[in-house]
Amino acid sequence: MTDTPTATRHATALPHPKALATLAPKKLLIDGRWVAPSSGKTFESINPATGEVLAHIAEANDADVDAAVTAARRAFDGVWSKTKPAERQRLLLKLADLIERDYDEFAMLDTLEMGMPISRSTAGKQRVAGMVRFYAGLATAIHGQNISNSIPGSVLSYTVKEPVGVVGAIVPWNGPLSQAVWKVAPALATGCTVVLKPSEQASLSPLKLAELIEEAGFPPGVMNVVTGAGAVGAAVAAHPGIDKVGFTGSTATGQAIVRASAGNLKRLSLELGGKSPDIIFADADLDAAVAGAAAAVFTNCGQICIAGSRLFVERKIHDEFVHRVAELAAKMRIGSPLDHATELGPLASRLQFDRVMSYINAGHEEGAQALAGGARADTGNLANGCYVQPTVFAGARDDMKIVREEIFGPVISAMPFDSVEEVVQRANNTPYGLGSGVWTRDVSKAHLVAGALKAGTVWVNCYLQLDAAIPFGGYKMSGYGRESGTEHMDHYLQTKSVVLKLA
Ligand code: NAD
Repeated sequence: MTDTPTATRHATALPHPKALATLAPKKLLIDGRWVAPSSGKTFESINPATGEVLAHIAEANDADVDAAVTAARRAFDGVWSKTKPAERQRLLLKLADLIERDYDEFAMLDTLEMGMPISRSTAGKQRVAGMVRFYAGLATAIHGQNISNSIPGSVLSYTVKEPVGVVGAIVPWNGPLSQAVWKVAPALATGCTVVLKPSEQASLSPLKLAELIEEAGFPPGVMNVVTGAGAVGAAVAAHPGIDKVGFTGSTATGQAIVRASAGNLKRLSLELGGKSPDIIFADADLDAAVAGAAAAVFTNCGQICIAGSRLFVERKIHDEFVHRVAELAAKMRIGSPLDHATELGPLASRLQFDRVMSYINAGHEEGAQALAGGARADTGNLANGCYVQPTVFAGARDDMKIVREEIFGPVISAMPFDSVEEVVQRANNTPYGLGSGVWTRDVSKAHLVAGALKAGTVWVNCYLQLDAAIPFGGYKMSGYGRESGTEHMDHYLQTKSVVLKLA
């Protein structure tokens, strides 16, 4: 399979990859203007399917971050915090329309830059536009409370919700557009201004999102983008002019952000890593569970924070079930992310490839048996890309590295269990607590296990189902705060109490 744009044969609306790749070097968005970085430096964005340079992107430094924060503060104090909710809603709805209009380009950018199969990147249109519309709706639903009090005399007390101010949004590469929208849309809906720091491995669609925010008519300085490596994120996290950081990424970086934010006690919401359990009981619909267990890890080539990578299977069906998952894995189509038939593209970067291969090697060394995969995929035209075979390890144990640590690649570790109590205890025996899955036809058992799992989301007889209205986030070292749902807006709001003595 070649990396030629077969996608264009299937979906003629998609822009030709070469047309996107030859775009001029990308700049920073500061105060409504696209500017060169003050250092003059750029970095390369690499196509992980081919190893080719895709684009040159501005490398911001501390001075650029400072200019972006100053612009965001000016826009917050000057116009945006005073803009009426209905106007914020109107602009967000316009943005949603523009995202739909240009969605094919977004899909192509994410596919080229981080290897997301085009079938997946094009499928996200309604979810992403829907998210923006969800927060647009909430923009006009912000309210405080009138509170009865026991203060002597006639005293009126009420609360008002005010935007926290300037938000630093720091996002990863595994869903470049959706992760950026997930931070930016609620911030704008509440009346906050934004300094967005995309991942250095996937900056193109966040930059395109910023272009559309400009086109929609948001005032200058409301949205700013500083691109670059982790040091740029660190500068955002430490900047005294930023009131809140919304972060999605690894737990180690989340911890660094907690430390960096102490200077001005920033508010934080942290969506971090995971090592999620997927639990299959013998009474489950096994056809659905086999497909679900595979999708829970192989979607986006395993680069999903909620990957159900610890597969617990009730002993009496364990061997047959795991062989069926392995058979499915072995049949998956690995290839160019531009091909609509591809199910597994490359990993997002050489760094990620090396990391995942080191875990696969650790699995072999620790004695797990690879029933499927267990190696890089390097035949034919895959040789130059960061391709890894979808891997199913049987004979895994709770103390193995592949079971304890987040791999962020297409690797399942399967283990048998004998009782509900045992599997709950083992499922919870992790520092993480992001996603989890339970497959059973027994409603009582489903409720019991869902109640006992220490994870921000429990999927029962399904996996990976996300919705803008359903809160999402972590327990334990998977972070704190919830994205999606009405409570997401609270991260960007603060409560003021007004106590008024009546004459
Ligand atoms: P990462 O932590 O390496 O980087 C995330 C972002 O933080 C990038 O923009 C990076 O440049 C920036 N950054 C790096 N060092 C920084 C520092 N010291 N201070 C501030 N910012 C810094 O994560 P990644 O490799 O991009 O993404 C993969 C990780 O993200 C995985 O652990 C995955 O589980 C997690 N993730 C979590 C969720 C969730 O919703 N919980 C979603 C997607 C990904």
